[in-house]
Amino acid sequence: MTLSSFLKKFWPRKIKLQLILGVALVHAFLMTFFILDLVYKERQFLIDQKRNLTYSLSKTIASNTTEWYLSKNINGLQEIISSQMVHQDLDYAMIFDLQGHILAHTDPKRIGKYLTNIKLFPRDKNDPVSIEDDHRKIDIATPIRLNGQTLGWVRVAIKTNNLNNNIYQITLEGLTYTLFAIIFGSIIAYFLGNNLTRKIRQVVEATKKINLRKKQMLFPQVEESEIGELMSNFNNMESKLHQQYQINSEYLKQIESLAFNDSLTGLHNREFLVKQLSKTLKKSAKNRNYSAILFLDIDKFKQLNDSYGHEIGDLLLKNIAKRLKSLIRNEAYIFRFGSDEFVLLYENVGDTFETATEKAKYLAYKIHARLAETYELDELHYKTSVSIGINVFHNQEKTDSDQIIKKADIALYASKEAGRNRITVFENAMESKVKNELILEEGLEKAIENNELFWVIQPQIDMQTQRVIGGEVLLRWRFNDQLISPSDFIPLAEDSLTIIPISNWLFSSVFQFIKQQNLDESISISLNLSPKHFLDNDLIEFIKIQLKHHQINPGQIKMEITEGVFFDNYDRALFVLKKLKKLGLKISLDDFGTGFSSLSYLKNLPIDQLKIDKSFIDELPVNEKPAAIVKTIIDLTKNLSINVIAEGIEDQNQVDFLIENNCHYCQGFYYSKPLSHEAFIDYIAIHNKS
Ligand code: C2E
Ligand code: CA
Ligand code: CA
Repeated sequence: MTLSSFLKKFWPRKIKLQLILGVALVHAFLMTFFILDLVYKERQFLIDQKRNLTYSLSKTIASNTTEWYLSKNINGLQEIISSQMVHQDLDYAMIFDLQGHILAHTDPKRIGKYLTNIKLFPRDKNDPVSIEDDHRKIDIATPIRLNGQTLGWVRVAIKTNNLNNNIYQITLEGLTYTLFAIIFGSIIAYFLGNNLTRKIRQVVEATKKINLRKKQMLFPQVEESEIGELMSNFNNMESKLHQQYQINSEYLKQIESLAFNDSLTGLHNREFLVKQLSKTLKKSAKNRNYSAILFLDIDKFKQLNDSYGHEIGDLLLKNIAKRLKSLIRNEAYIFRFGSDEFVLLYENVGDTFETATEKAKYLAYKIHARLAETYELDELHYKTSVSIGINVFHNQEKTDSDQIIKKADIALYASKEAGRNRITVFENAMESKVKNELILEEGLEKAIENNELFWVIQPQIDMQTQRVIGGEVLLRWRFNDQLISPSDFIPLAEDSLTIIPISNWLFSSVFQFIKQQNLDESISISLNLSPKHFLDNDLIEFIKIQLKHHQINPGQIKMEITEGVFFDNYDRALFVLKKLKKLGLKISLDDFGTGFSSLSYLKNLPIDQLKIDKSFIDELPVNEKPAAIVKTIIDLTKNLSINVIAEGIEDQNQVDFLIENNCHYCQGFYYSKPLSHEAFIDYIAIHNKS
């Protein structure tokens, strides 16, 4: 384990403990060094002292004993040496001659003996000689001199080994002080640490409470210290953050308002609806647990836009938003969902599904009526209607907001399908219908490549001569072993635009048939032209190429179009119509009488035939009104010099009525149901023999 990893592991985390441990360690180290140093110096000092003493003793004895030495007074010398015994640490003192013969000694037993190491004491030596100087003793010899001559030596040894007592004493005292220093240091560190950490804790606790929403002073009182400085910095920071927070929330509000509001009407937008709905779905409001969503769509808004321009369209939308706001006030949330779609969300409208539904319907009727009132759009007095779909749902329904909106949309779709300008409440059956349609739509996309499409043809008859004058091509689809009615799949194909490839396939197949069968030019073949296909930019070019490719006489082809195409975009429709005519095709106006049948525009249209709708024929001849309408239509065609055909003839009475009123052409089950290709050829062969 390295030192740093050891410290990491065992060094305390808390500031207080760090402080205490730090102070204790510093004290321990410093005091130890101090004591060691002190002990060393003290020892040196004591040794120096002893050395000086030894020198001065040996010198004093040497100078005091010269006379006694000369006079060979051994007793006198011994007296002087013995008197030195008063020195506590004295090991020994002696006087000896140049031969090392001991003349006097503190230990009388040594007198008369000889020193073995006399070489240490040379005769010509003037100064004292140090014999030993260590931790045991200091031993010094000083020559006894007279007139420049050494007579003998005085030798003194003082013990130094008893210094340890002294040193031990000092060390013990030093350690006691160290211990006290550590204890006091730690106590002071403890209090300092306490004080410091208490303040830091205070800062920590206060900063935990930072809440940018509300302006507050984190530290109302700050002292004059670093921590105080920190506190006032926090105060500043907090107030700056608060300011910034307010600026940010302002921005956030602006961004939200851009993201969740519609700029044209000022209403909430679709994103906000989804957000609000998911909130509604979580609410369990007291007793009223059902909410309702109303999906509004302005009828024929596109026509207004196309005819009068987008400014007028926008004006209508703004007016509608204004009316909704003043009518609804705070009762519901209002959203602009799409271009001409509005959604209302009524929260908690009822406590049971039935009461909630009744209330929602009542509100829908109120809105319906208000929005039907005339609008003043610049100079234009404009009346319109709205279709409404309602979905009533339980606040805790286990679905998401998309599902709730979708159901209202399905109900709206039902309102539109039923002829617009009405209110429909969502029912589960509608959903399965939509699901079915979805399956069909998907199936349709593959219908051509799967060879599921084919066509039949219904003969058109000249009632007077009984001859076949033509046939109407009718599309058939066999899907999953079922024959799906064109009335069911054509609208879906139009919605998903698969109508275009399907019709292209059909046209080319019919042209090929005409060519292959070498069909007599007196037989005209009618093709139904869907409004979507009619407005497709590539239509004219496609037909042109196909006619050329199959070498078909264009006059043999009749395109059946419905009046609807002129209402959506009259100019464009007229343009296409003229192009078709230019190609040499014939035009028949299908389902005539069911649309808006404005007679004034008819005279400007380059059409060849009117086809009286089956609904009028059905009631012939008993019902007066349809009979009158049929007569009028026939008269009209005479005036316009175009021909007329009736569809859906099912009995002889209808035939009689029509012939009587000068309508000679017809088509219907009375003569023939739609036939297969071969059957049609046979049918012509039988009826047009001569
Ligand atoms: P439509 O153009 O009005 O076609 C006439 C419809 O009336 C055909 O129904 C035909 O079978 C039916 N019909 C003819 N005579 C009688 C009769 O005496 N009694 C009764 N009850 N019905 C009669 P179908 O084939 O089901 O077609 C329905 C509609 O589907 C057509 O109405 C047309 O709008 C559309 N459609 C059919 N084929 C095509 C097509 O190839 N292209 C387009 N765009 N639409 C087509
Ligand atoms: Ca038709
Ligand atoms: Ca028709």
